[in-house]
Amino acid sequence: MSKEDLECSFCGRKKGETNLLIAGLDAHICDRCIEQAHGIVIEEALHSGGSVLSDEVMLKKPKAIKAFLDKYVIGQDDTKKVMSVAVYNHYKRLLQAKGEDEVEIQKSNIIIVGHTGTGKTLIAKSIAKMLNVPLAIVDATVLTEAGYVGEDVEGILTRLLQAGDYNLEKAQNGIVFIDEIDKIARKSDNPSITRDVSGEGVQQALLKLLEGTVVNVPPKGGRKHPDQKFIEFNTENILFIAGGAFDGIERIISKRMNMQTIGFKSASAKESQIDSENLLKYIIPKDLKDYGLIPEIIGRLPVLTYMNPLDKKTLRMILTEPKNAIIKQYQKLFEMDGIEFQMTDGALDYIVDKALEYNLGARGLRSLCETVLTDAMYELPGTDTKKLVINKTDVEKKLNQVTLHQLKAVS
Ligand code: ADP
Repeated sequence: MSKEDLECSFCGRKKGETNLLIAGLDAHICDRCIEQAHGIVIEEALHSGGSVLSDEVMLKKPKAIKAFLDKYVIGQDDTKKVMSVAVYNHYKRLLQAKGEDEVEIQKSNIIIVGHTGTGKTLIAKSIAKMLNVPLAIVDATVLTEAGYVGEDVEGILTRLLQAGDYNLEKAQNGIVFIDEIDKIARKSDNPSITRDVSGEGVQQALLKLLEGTVVNVPPKGGRKHPDQKFIEFNTENILFIAGGAFDGIERIISKRMNMQTIGFKSASAKESQIDSENLLKYIIPKDLKDYGLIPEIIGRLPVLTYMNPLDKKTLRMILTEPKNAIIKQYQKLFEMDGIEFQMTDGALDYIVDKALEYNLGARGLRSLCETVLTDAMYELPGTDTKKLVINKTDVEKKLNQVTLHQLKAVS
């Protein structure tokens, strides 16, 4: 048979009539039939249902949830506690039988305020891992109101559906992490005369998702597939976690706290107890409002918590302690080549000092390690080397060869 005579074994179209014809063992399939089959697969998955959360997960008490988080997230004890309770309450709410005279438990959606690289995403990921539910991570900055360039908020649910392998039941019990929520704050306190596309409109669009509603969701994502069937997605049982750096919010907090202390005779005594290095821990919902979040959004994210800045001790622990600690990962990589890898305490301390000096945070730890170890990872595999010990002098030498600019590029 000549190439042009080949045809799709499903619809019979000739090769020339298709955009793509893929050969199997003794059959062919065209692009159109693949699209159609994909639709059927999604449809099937959506209706397969199944039990979503195991009893074991549902019954995990807050202390057990925190113990799980401790394995992955260093420090941040206050937030881990607050989140353990919020997650526990969230799943208790799901378990609650919907009787008529029941007290209705409100959703415990969470908002975390903290500088970038302090572990906000990591906490959300760890919770999803523990619960074994799908997680969608979305950046609030790409969201727009329907009709504008960007991603509609419904796209968030499409992502969750994809994360849950198109099992609707699973996705409806998943977690959505909305990063950079601060970037959609209203720019001025004055509800604007001109339309504020990137800010308030998006907050309004998010509101309905947060409060729990049924949304028509395009399973393959918005605009590229206009003819797909929409599916009804109920957001009532989704746990939303929002995170943001809220740059400059310390000014709002400090102003409020100074105002509160005026009029107290013991103002100076009060002030002396304030941890001015870490004002975020005093954050209250009103500060978010003053920053530009609309009150309705704040109301739908009732659990407010904060991340501590990462100090030297914490950064040092992040290198070696968590279950997936950076150094453990390198050890694993070298081990696969039969090489035992170690870094001396002096070397680890030096890396932490550099991360602090360059203000690179926890993300910088990885780029610093990468810079130090790339040559070894290139040279050693395939040689007789059985052991690699990196000390402070080795680290110094390597890091002196690169610029801060190069380090930032990889972090
Ligand atoms: P954020 O979302 O706050 O910007 P991430 O959660 O993305 O920060 O953190 C970036 C990386 O830094 C994580 O992947 C993790 O390796 C490391 N990290 C940050 N904070 C911690 C922490 N408290 N414990 C362990 N690792 C951390």
